[in-house]
Amino acid sequence: MTVNDLDTQVDDALKGDAAPPPPQGSSTRAVHGGTQRRKAYNALNTPIVQTATYTFRDTQDLIDFMERKTWGDGDDREEYGRYGNPTVHAVERKLAALDGGDDAVLFASGMSAVTSALLTILPTGSHIVMTDDCYRRTRQFCLTFLKRFGIETTVVPMGDYEAMEAAIIPKKTRILISESPTNPYLRIADLERIAALGRKNRVMTFIDSTFATPVNQRPIEWGIDFVLHSATKYLSGHNDLLAGVIVGRADRLKALRDSRGVLGGIVDPHNAYMLERGIKTLGVRVAQQNATAMAVARFLEAHPKIERVWYPGLPSHPDHVTAVAQMEAFGGVVTFEVAADLRTTGQFIDRLRIPYIAPSLGGVESLIEQPALMSYYEKTSEERLALGIKDNLVRFAIGIEDTNDVLNDLDQALAGI
Ligand SMILES: *Cc1c(COP(=O)(O)O)cnc(C)c1O
Repeated sequence: MTVNDLDTQVDDALKGDAAPPPPQGSSTRAVHGGTQRRKAYNALNTPIVQTATYTFRDTQDLIDFMERKTWGDGDDREEYGRYGNPTVHAVERKLAALDGGDDAVLFASGMSAVTSALLTILPTGSHIVMTDDCYRRTRQFCLTFLKRFGIETTVVPMGDYEAMEAAIIPKKTRILISESPTNPYLRIADLERIAALGRKNRVMTFIDSTFATPVNQRPIEWGIDFVLHSATKYLSGHNDLLAGVIVGRADRLKALRDSRGVLGGIVDPHNAYMLERGIKTLGVRVAQQNATAMAVARFLEAHPKIERVWYPGLPSHPDHVTAVAQMEAFGGVVTFEVAADLRTTGQFIDRLRIPYIAPSLGGVESLIEQPALMSYYEKTSEERLALGIKDNLVRFAIGIEDTNDVLNDLDQALAGI
């Protein structure tokens, strides 16, 4: 077989005419998944097609394009920047390969992905069932924005599958929304159970898998319909861009791709290139973050100045058994309670030399925050407690620094309070 035959085979595979490639590990998929081996100008990397519109040779060329678009199965070219871009497509194919979906649609941010997906899927008068530990802004969108369009949401406790099923209203409920792991307690949703509930009751299922990454957890393999990632976090991995993606079955995502052309939450081609560049190192970054997080969780759990550690890799976590069953590893975020008040907890954070104080997670730099002062600042201690946020709670989003340096830093900071 010649190199040219191989290229033809790869091109055919991308068009879906050939047998699927053998299963590959997630790091190989992060580098090669969904990527055409031949690119314009024989470049190794995906070219950045920085254009807002696309031209037609002559009137006949335009008519041919419209005929193909209207009647045929289309082709690779685009008509206008809001409808698509080759650089964006390249990242979408990679993201689909990583999560085991057959298509992916990329958006300008994680929130743009969630809001566009729900606006596309849900008709007026429909109903959502959502778990209570969901991302704050997703919850806000459902409970306030969608409510204005006559879409109601029932919030059920995370981990209570009887309550989830009981909340389903026949013919009205269209979607079950959950997250795994959640923020900040890293609760794990039983994906197989949620998928089965969805199928049994003819309801679609949607999982925000941002904290897990496709390296640690692939909800589609458990039967989930839609997977969301804020690509701002681990996928891009460098705290330098915002993007979001929905992965799923091609027939389900077609409507979403079309509605993106209307709602307009497209990602810039340069940003898409930066995201693809980040994704190529996802496997090694996440392996390092998993390993350090596990070591940090064990270290903190044994430390006398720590009251409680929340990490799904520890047997003490309420969802440890589910996590072991459905995850490859447990991610790079460790949440814990310092045996101290609001102020002393802040002093511990201030003594740390490695992590920056910042919201977000998943990048190469470690980030740390006290949720009471970050996401819940405007509330009183009592209001926060009612939401389950203690004053001494700390969320540590681990970067790719050396494990021992991170442990030594925590050790010295705890010794100082
Ligand atoms: C950050 C985040 C989002 C929102 O994504 P953006 O890219 O910031 O819009 C949604 N879900 C989870 C779990 C997140 O961490």
